[in-house]
Order: sequence, then structure tokens, then C-alpha cells
Amino acid sequence: MQTPASTRTVTQTLTPRRAVFMVPPERPTIITIDGPAGTGKSSVARELAGRIGLDFLDTGAMYRAAAAIVIDHAIDRADTDAIVAKVAGADLHFDWTTDPPAIMAWDIPIDHRIRDADVTAIVSPIAAIGKLREHMVRKQRIIAHQHPRLVSEGRDQGSVVFPDACVKFYLDADAAVRAKRRADQLRAEGRDADEAALLAEILERDRSDSARKDGPLICPDDAVVIDTSRMTREQVVERLEDEVRVRIAL
Ligand code: C5P
Repeated sequence: MQTPASTRTVTQTLTPRRAVFMVPPERPTIITIDGPAGTGKSSVARELAGRIGLDFLDTGAMYRAAAAIVIDHAIDRADTDAIVAKVAGADLHFDWTTDPPAIMAWDIPIDHRIRDADVTAIVSPIAAIGKLREHMVRKQRIIAHQHPRLVSEGRDQGSVVFPDACVKFYLDADAAVRAKRRADQLRAEGRDADEAALLAEILERDRSDSARKDGPLICPDDAVVIDTSRMTREQVVERLEDEVRVRIAL
């Protein structure tokens, strides 16, 4: 039963004053890595997380999973309510027992599907749906609550989702370099790669991700900006690790 306000006042007045020591809850160790498509964020974020003993969250996988669901369930792309309802019902989550953690929908892994070209082609407009972003941001914060030592990678992680992150990075690179890296990656996976088409797709995704109203791709003011155009993956990871170690005790 609730104590009436008047009784509460009397109790407070009668209680002797006593020093109260507030113990702040332990601050989560969140490191964010934002940046445009093709900077190699996912792979360096994952490697950094492994080196410094943090979990790794690939938020692009969540938006890609949403886009895959839209295609595979033949949902009308203009029907944003239906998209949000279907994706919310899919209970997107990660299986943390695999490396990297596999994204699951309806408890079934869909990581094998999310990098297909048809998914990549529509992911950016799907990720621009405001209500879908609200849903994803909520999920990402719950994940961070459950995994409070986290390297989280995406477009809006330092700017919107975790504004109080301990260290924020923004990775960038020339668009042509990013297209070449994507092509090399696809070829290494045994897939076809048309570099000119990849460049056009990357530029369009940059434009669309930067122009949207909710969670646009921006560089947070307090981010460490790294241009990776002339760096190897190994050099980028080394640099990130050095920057983290001078800023926080792990
Ligand atoms: O990082 P990745 O290329 O896998 O992301 C796919 C797409 O998901 C991006 O182009 C962007 O439209 C969207 N995305 C987003 N916010 C994030 C992560 C990804 O809008 N935090």
C-alpha cells in the first residue's frame, strides 16, 4: 500500500539525519565505432573486441536482418507499420555462443542471408524507418545492459545510442578505397564483384544514411576520427587498441 504524502513528510522529519553514501553503479565499458559503408568497421571492431576482451555488437546485422525479413516475407516496402510489426515479432537477437555472434530471427540463424546483394540493396531505406530505428535502439541498449563490456559498431552508436560511451571512434576512407575493399572481400568469399557498381552502391548508401531524419550518419563531436584509406586492417586495429588503452583501464 502506498504511504500517503502527509505521513511520508512526518516520517522524514522524525528520522535523524545521517550521511548517505551513494555508490554509483559500475560504469559500463562501451566503445563505439561509427562510420560509412566499407570502412572495414565490422572486422576491425570484432578484432579489437577480441584483443581487449570485450563483446562485439554488429548493429548493421540487425538492420540487414530487418531488410531480409522484408524481402523474404514479401512485405510491402511502403507499409512501414507492417515492417515494424513483423520485425518486432521476429525477436531479433544474437547467439553469443558463436564467433562472431550470429543474428537470429524467430530463433533461427539468418546470418548467412544478411549480406546477399538483394538485402544490401534495400537495407538503407529500411533503416531509415523511424519506428524501426526506435525499436533497434531499444534492443541495442538492452544488449549493452546484458553485455556491459562492449564494442558496438554502426552508424549511430556514438551519436545516438550510446552518447556516454567511454571511447568513440569514427572510421572513414575514400569511397574508391572502400569499394575496392568490398570487392576484395566478396572475391575472397568466392562471389562476383563489379567494383564500379559497388562504388555507386556505396555512394548511394552514404547519401541515404547521411540524409535520413532519424539516426543519420554523423561524426560525433567527441569521436577519435581515423582515415583508414592508407592503412592496413592490422594498422587500424593497432591504432584503435592504442587509443583505447591510453583512455581507459581495461
Ligand atoms: O554496417 P553495414 O554495412 O552492415 O550496415 C548496413 C546498413 O544498415 C547501413 O547502410 C545502414 O543503412 C544501416 N545501419 C544503420 N544504423 C546502424 C547500422 C547500420 O542505419 N547502426
